[in-house]
This record gives sequence, structure tokens and C-alpha cells, in this order.
Amino acid sequence: MKSASKPQLASVEQPFGGTPPRPHCPICGRAVLRVDDDGLTHADPCRHLAFVFVGEVGDFEYRSPDFTRRTAHRRIHDLDLTRLRTLLVNAGYGNGLLALEITYGGMACGPVWYTDVYGFDYGVGGEEEGKEGGSEGGGGA
Ligand SMILES: [Zn+2]
Repeated sequence: MKSASKPQLASVEQPFGGTPPRPHCPICGRAVLRVDDDGLTHADPCRHLAFVFVGEVGDFEYRSPDFTRRTAHRRIHDLDLTRLRTLLVNAGYGNGLLALEITYGGMACGPVWYTDVYGFDYGVGGEEEGKEGGSEGGGGA
């Protein structure tokens, strides 16, 4: 068995002071983060979202059932980016996984930079196509 295929990493950096990232799933287009009325951010996963890793705390905001199963016996807390990348390989993800690493900075008590990572699993089957259920109002901008 070859292990030539690895999880694919994309590392991008936003201009300092930009708004925190609001990524959309590259597979189905869903916004995977939602901001509530109090300004708090929550994961709003589609079925392709494997995980949301928050660099500020070194922990996961969201883990899919599949990701949870793959990492059941592995360390998933207090991680840095290097450990996270290793974890993805050890979890058995191949090049069907896109890990989008977004670094962004702003002012807190001083300038701070964070890197959040969003994992999208292209290996998720598409059998349930057309069973979306929700009628999004959206459109336009
Ligand atoms: Zn999706």
C-alpha cells in the first residue's frame, strides 16, 4: 500500500486588521461559520467539513463524527500547526482532504496573529444529493 497521497495544505495570510475569515465549503458552497446575535462565532458544518481548528486555543471548535472516529486514540488538545498536520496524516487522511490554514491578525492588547484551520473532506460520498431540505433565502451579494 502506497502512502504517496497526503492531506493537502493551503496556507494563506490575510492583511493585518482584516475581518476574521468566514470560509465557505469549496465543495458545496455552504458558509461553515455563523455569527450569532452576540457576535460569537459557531461552526455551522456541512457534511464535508471535517474539523475547525482554532489556533488561538490550540483546540478544535468542531469535529465531524468521521474525524472523531479517526482520531479517537490520538492527542487532539493543545496542538500547534505542526502537530495538527501530523495528526491529519496519522488519522489516515489522503489527498481527499483539504486543510485550509488561514492566518489573520488584529489588535488585542497588542497586535496578535492567529491561524485557524478548516478541514474539508472531498472523500465524503454524495449519495444524499438533493436532500438539502433548507430553503435558503440568500442569493445576490
Ligand atoms: Zn460542503
